[in-house]
Amino acid sequence: MTKWVYNFGAGVNDGHAGLRNLLGGKGANLAEMASIDLPVPPGFTITTEVCTAYYDNNQNYPADLKAQVDTALTRIEEAVGRKFGDGAKPLLVSVRSGARVSMPGMMDTVLNLGLNDSTVQGLAVGSGDARFAWDSYRRFIQMYGSVVLGVDHHRFEEIIETAKLDADVIEDTALTTEDWQRVVEGYKAMVAEETGKPFPQDPADQLWGAISAVFGSWMNPRANTYRRLHDIPANWGTAVNVQAMVFGNMGDDCATGVCFTRDPSTGLNEFYGEYLVNAQGEDVVAGIRTPRPLSKAYAKPGEISMEEALPEAYAELNKVRDVLEKHYKDMQDIEFTVQQNKLYMLQTRAGKRSAAASLRIAVEMADEGLIDRNTAIMRVNPAALDQLLHPTLDPKSEKKLFAKGLPASPGAASGAVVFSADEAELRAQKGDAVILVRIETSPEDIHGMHAARGILTTRGGMTSHAAVVARGMGRPCVAGAGGINVDYGAQTLSAGGVLLRAGDIVTIDGATGEVFAGAVKMIEPQLSGEFGTLMGWADQARRLKVRANAETPLDADTARKFGAEGIGLSRTEHMFFDPLRIGAVRQMIMANDEAGRRAALTKLLPFQREDFAALFKIMEGLPVTIRLLDPPLHEFLPHGEAELAEVAHALGMDEAAIKARAEELSETNPMLGHRGCRLGVSYPEIYEMQARAIFEAAIEVAKTSPAPVPEIMIPLVGIKRELDITRAQIEKVAKEVFAETGKTIEYSIGTMIELPRAALMADVIAEGADFFSFGTNDLTQTVFGLSRDDAGKFLPHYVEQGILAKDPFVSIDVDGVGALVRIAAEKGRATKPGLKLGICGEHGGDPASIAFCEAVKLDYVSCSPYRVPVARLAAAQAAIEGAEKNSTD
Ligand code: PEP
Ligand code: MG
Repeated sequence: MTKWVYNFGAGVNDGHAGLRNLLGGKGANLAEMASIDLPVPPGFTITTEVCTAYYDNNQNYPADLKAQVDTALTRIEEAVGRKFGDGAKPLLVSVRSGARVSMPGMMDTVLNLGLNDSTVQGLAVGSGDARFAWDSYRRFIQMYGSVVLGVDHHRFEEIIETAKLDADVIEDTALTTEDWQRVVEGYKAMVAEETGKPFPQDPADQLWGAISAVFGSWMNPRANTYRRLHDIPANWGTAVNVQAMVFGNMGDDCATGVCFTRDPSTGLNEFYGEYLVNAQGEDVVAGIRTPRPLSKAYAKPGEISMEEALPEAYAELNKVRDVLEKHYKDMQDIEFTVQQNKLYMLQTRAGKRSAAASLRIAVEMADEGLIDRNTAIMRVNPAALDQLLHPTLDPKSEKKLFAKGLPASPGAASGAVVFSADEAELRAQKGDAVILVRIETSPEDIHGMHAARGILTTRGGMTSHAAVVARGMGRPCVAGAGGINVDYGAQTLSAGGVLLRAGDIVTIDGATGEVFAGAVKMIEPQLSGEFGTLMGWADQARRLKVRANAETPLDADTARKFGAEGIGLSRTEHMFFDPLRIGAVRQMIMANDEAGRRAALTKLLPFQREDFAALFKIMEGLPVTIRLLDPPLHEFLPHGEAELAEVAHALGMDEAAIKARAEELSETNPMLGHRGCRLGVSYPEIYEMQARAIFEAAIEVAKTSPAPVPEIMIPLVGIKRELDITRAQIEKVAKEVFAETGKTIEYSIGTMIELPRAALMADVIAEGADFFSFGTNDLTQTVFGLSRDDAGKFLPHYVEQGILAKDPFVSIDVDGVGALVRIAAEKGRATKPGLKLGICGEHGGDPASIAFCEAVKLDYVSCSPYRVPVARLAAAQAAIEGAEKNSTD
């Protein structure tokens, strides 16, 4: 018999934290907490396998599930001494979803399940508090009605608003028992009208309705979007947790809250969280009431922290904080309830944190001896480092403060105001920077939050949906800016008498919570001490070297600042577009014969020499890979009529001649035409000039700085003869320059492997190459037969439909493109065991692709300067994972 149901609490713990895949994160951790004697109300988890079976079997449950649920429910009844549906001592339960990873978008929670017209009386008598009982009942109908029965939540809010008007009160807390009874009647009537059926009174019907709603929500469009964005497979399924209720809304000695064992924004080792007295869980998360800080350290004047209001429960919670961190060896995100001064734990999980916090926590926990250095390295998501490298607001720049909210997710962003997720997505697709402004966000806004540069909400705390999701996504976010009034209808937001409209520019600072009207100047990020420490540990752990793709001194400088160990690709054509040189480039292209081309190239030589000398100086003896000219020549000629005329004038040539040459050179698919080494074969003088510039620059720089180590790289080789011919050109120039100057320098000549034929013939090509650098941009386009320039029109749909798991231009296609890389690496090394292998396509900065590069044992990756830290960390993680895998094989 398959075990579909796992008990936890009250002395029976069938599960543990290691069963996350089966029990979901919440269920596994409830069992784990109960087994280390933390106060967890008893309950049970219906496994993720039930979810999978349910969808595999036409949305039917396994036959023996019901009996297992009944047995588990009876166990809870006995443990708490209450019975489900009992008129005198009713058991109430919560029903909550819980996938392997926390996943917004699904049905989350139904509380107080088991209440009906009869059990509410029992609750009233048993608790001695009729108001509490009726408040709980109306909460249940509201939650169940909206999440299980699909009734619009506004319909419930309207009824409460009317009740408040009738009673002439402002706060919900001022409503009396009789008011809540009337609200319950109103709710029931409204639900019956909306759904065509009375509100279910049978607790068993309620329970199965809620369980089915959890499983049903696994496949709703919001959950599907979230899974797609986060690469979560649909067949993981969700679990369902059913747990005896404890009440945070029974009076002023009751509370509910959410907290983190360390500050999730800064990583500071301080107990951080929010709580509400006399409230139930959803009040905190939904932002209905503004929560108060947990600890005194975070309380502003006038705010009463839980530390002061409920000192005993706080002390207990503080102990739990310590136990949980030591047990899980990670920062935890905890949900708790205090019922009549007694603390209960409802959830724990590894807490989401900002990039800065993840660094600080990893480094401090390693220093505290809680984790080792390799674990610390594995704790920081390399992609999250991007957040730290993002600009912040320039404190000296002029700013117009518009309003202030909570600093929910760090980073600063400017953009045009949009009020809906769809609009954010639409405008972002057109290339606009937008700030998504919402009263509050919900899981259906995820695509818009992803598309926006930043998010601003006017309601909700640091644990509200907007705050948690933005932090996870690395988007700057200011939440709960209550001083701002948003009018969706009029498409405006206003604060302090200032009115802004959709499309106006605002700037948010997610580190301070400030919102400014207009754009604000940004400055480069300052990296913290922990950043350097962790990077140092990563450098010790990694095997792959990390270089940068750079051609300007600025790029090269940035690359070194971020720890690049050389340049892996310098695209020389980027140097040709400079206004001072483009004229000579065009003159070279327009020349009718070799002599004419050489004359133009002579003009270019000093420029190129300067370019290379600058790079060599900055890199101080580190390897610098210079790729000789690659793109087809038509890219350098003007396209528009006016520009054509201007160039004709500048070159003293006939306009028609330029036009004719441009037409002659024009290619329909320039990426596969007369480019790369094919240019070198046709016009040897081009590569000769570039080689001369490289050698002359290197010899010059070597006089005063560490000797440069140029690696000259031939692009787009597919045939060994192409390499032989171009190599001979370079070697001839080397000899000439060495003879002219009486000096020599070390250099090497290699090739890009960016065509399938080159990969397949790598053993032969290696005979003429000192190194290979995989040009996986071109290799991807040629392996797939996909044009790099046109693929954007349909590739996103391929990813959406699951035809491709990821965009292969972003993350290497391990099965296809990767197979060729593997073949080429093996064949190349078979010919030359010490052949140096690198990658310089965009994939060199993508963590998943870097893991692949580690697996095939390349020597280095090369990526854009800002990605260098990401690559250093990803390379360390790949090495650690590789070593772990080897030791378990
Ligand atoms: C490549 O093809 O991967 C490469 C690095 O060269 P480029 O992008 O310049 O074609
Ligand atoms: Mg290329």
